[in-house]
Amino acid sequence: MRKIQMVDLIAQYQKIKPEVDSAILNILENAQFINGPEVVGFQKELEEYLGVKHVIPCANGTDALQIALMAIGAKPGDEVITPSFTYIATTEVMALLGLKPVFVEVEKDSFCIDPAEIEAAITERTIAIVPVHLYGQAANMDAIMEIANRRGLKVIEDNAQAIGSDYRMADGSLKKTGGIGHIGCTSFFPSKNLGCYGDGGAMCTNDDELAAQMRMIANHGQSKRYYHDVVGCNSRLDSIQAAVLRIKLRELDNYISARRSVAKHYNAFFSKFPQIKTPVMDVYSHHVFHQYTLTLEGVDRDALNAFLAEREIPSMIYYPVPAHRQKMFDAFGSANTDLPITDWLTERVISLPIHTEMEQDQLDFICQGVADFIAK
Ligand SMILES: *Cc1c(COP(=O)(O)O)cnc(C)c1O
Repeated sequence: MRKIQMVDLIAQYQKIKPEVDSAILNILENAQFINGPEVVGFQKELEEYLGVKHVIPCANGTDALQIALMAIGAKPGDEVITPSFTYIATTEVMALLGLKPVFVEVEKDSFCIDPAEIEAAITERTIAIVPVHLYGQAANMDAIMEIANRRGLKVIEDNAQAIGSDYRMADGSLKKTGGIGHIGCTSFFPSKNLGCYGDGGAMCTNDDELAAQMRMIANHGQSKRYYHDVVGCNSRLDSIQAAVLRIKLRELDNYISARRSVAKHYNAFFSKFPQIKTPVMDVYSHHVFHQYTLTLEGVDRDALNAFLAEREIPSMIYYPVPAHRQKMFDAFGSANTDLPITDWLTERVISLPIHTEMEQDQLDFICQGVADFIAK
């Protein structure tokens, strides 16, 4: 059996190696490392794939979130509503910009921000909501957009884990996640569903003004060469990453299907264990399974984690400490925020290996490992 990994990028690369190698070599030959045709090509292809007017590539997903918040005109002291049960990048950029993350509870089933809790968190300083499509499942965007539109707030989707997911809107139409709010942000970190071979990220929007603003901010606030209108940053996707992403974007739907079939296998196996709750799939969301995450009840999660490690089965805890309890936010006093579901989940979730190259014997071995632990 091939060694089990959380994500098997080596086996994935082997399948696209000739294309990737020649694309990268071509860039070396032409020395168009920055803003070359590969970047423009990728931007256009991603716009088409996502069904959005504008894609603005940038250096990583964290930058994408920061640039999006800058583009909506967030000023120090402004408040942004966001879940605490997420990767730190989502909320870190808020603090970095002097904004106040206002942490809101997640739904126990979807792991995503609970729309029913948003309204009570809105104050006159609130400017935006940042939902996170955690593990590849979309937050309830219809409900979130309804609140945002009624209260005049911007919505920035953290789509780092859900790129490619189709969302069924209340009217039955399908939209890609990231293209529903005012801005969508994503990451091309290697292990993400659409990952490059280094760092990368992007913002997308259907709003011409926000697009122009984000382009300017990502390029030193420059409106024309050497004329800098606003304080910006330097955040670029390089040509080599763009070339890799163009190739992998063509595979993305296949990658998603492969992940979904791994999840289906896990679901079928784990459904017979009352102590194990398999991911709940919301009707409006086409889960793209960036992570396959179980919620355990009456099982020692950390002991299972260690037990699997002994068998060389990797498993991960995403995330052991919720954002509102991070030391980073001490100054905000957010540790006093009462988020019982978030706390409950951080003690009970465990993510199993899921990727595009999983083999049947590996899947069986992982399932057996979990079953053996439960039977102990
Ligand atoms: C990965 C990730 C990010 C940050 O992306 P980077 O490219 O690593 O900066 C932001 N939010 C979420 C939810 C993520 O999973």
